[in-house]
Amino acid sequence: MKIGVYGGSFNPPHLGHVRAAQACKRALGLERVLVIPASIPPHKQMASGSATAMERLKLTQLAFSQLPGFAVLDMELRREGKSYTVDTIRALKEQYKQGEMYLMMGTDMFLSFQDWYCPEEIAKNARLVCFSRYDADAKNRESLLKQADTLEAQFGERPVLLENDCFDISSTEARRLLRFGIAAPYLPEAVLREIEAEGLYGVGENDKGLSFERLKDVSLALHKSSRVPHAIGVCETAREMAKKYGADETLAARAGILHDVTKALNAKQQLLLAEKWNVDLTDFERANPQLLHAKTGAAAAREIFGECEAVQSAIEWHTTGKPNMTKLEKIVYLADMIEPNRTYTGVEAIRAAAEKDLDEGVLLALERTIAHLQEEGFAVCEDSVRARAFLLSERKSS
Ligand code: FE
Ligand code: FE
Repeated sequence: MKIGVYGGSFNPPHLGHVRAAQACKRALGLERVLVIPASIPPHKQMASGSATAMERLKLTQLAFSQLPGFAVLDMELRREGKSYTVDTIRALKEQYKQGEMYLMMGTDMFLSFQDWYCPEEIAKNARLVCFSRYDADAKNRESLLKQADTLEAQFGERPVLLENDCFDISSTEARRLLRFGIAAPYLPEAVLREIEAEGLYGVGENDKGLSFERLKDVSLALHKSSRVPHAIGVCETAREMAKKYGADETLAARAGILHDVTKALNAKQQLLLAEKWNVDLTDFERANPQLLHAKTGAAAAREIFGECEAVQSAIEWHTTGKPNMTKLEKIVYLADMIEPNRTYTGVEAIRAAAEKDLDEGVLLALERTIAHLQEEGFAVCEDSVRARAFLLSERKSS
């Protein structure tokens, strides 16, 4: 009997997991697929706000148990200590003496297989199968083939490289989408219902009127980790500028920490959010998805965090600027351009201008952005052009 073994943290299980497992089952003609949630994955720390092991088990059962040929096992959750694949394979070998085992994994796990605990024993007892989980995995083809060669030379059997269609979603992303209330297209229906009913992953929490510290935590958890320093930089810079130029420091800090809160979402997800919250989008914004996060970020500030209009509009205009901006809008726009992590050519001149005069700083930042977009052959947003003209005409009349 051909048996597939599919382990993972399933935090939460989503359609990417389900589709990949089904593709494996079909392609290899597996009679059974054993889905095994890990208690403490040895490869990674569990993200904060995760569901407990028992909740993940239940979600995994809801995701897979109804599918013909699939079974969810709790063996790793019952075992003491960390989950090691080799222990699981050993136990399954005992149970399915005649079974021919296929260990299913995504590309990142496959590429690091040598670093697992006891890889020889695993490879001796199960054929390795690598499937794609993300569209980007296809670009990895060469390194996957190389890894297959290496593993074949080392362990004597060639791993199976599956060329499957992907449903592009990760658990990290799924948790983010749950928080924004747009996870439905990415999760099995029963999984979503359970998460909502049990209030897992922060779903259904009231995030309105949070203290700054709490707002910061919730906001940063929704960012990609690589973007966290930028969000903190904008927050601190906006707070300092508010103090210097006599604006509300609290509002500047709140707008700063939230300004990119939806930036981690891709274009399709931005559009889902815009639709959910009835955000009006211009044709220009639809054609330039990198601008959408300003609009959806402002809507998130309103819908999720219950922030005031001043904060919402500072977020809304932080990417393009517009004519006749409020002090807070100027501050957040400028802080986004000059926070300490920014390193582009010309940033020092903008910092120096911002130090002397808020409007001069904004004007220089607008000029730099417009020139840069033109040099790179990108369309320039009309709002930025009008913002620059407005500041120039004000300068003349003063
Ligand atoms: Fe931004
Ligand atoms: Fe930003």
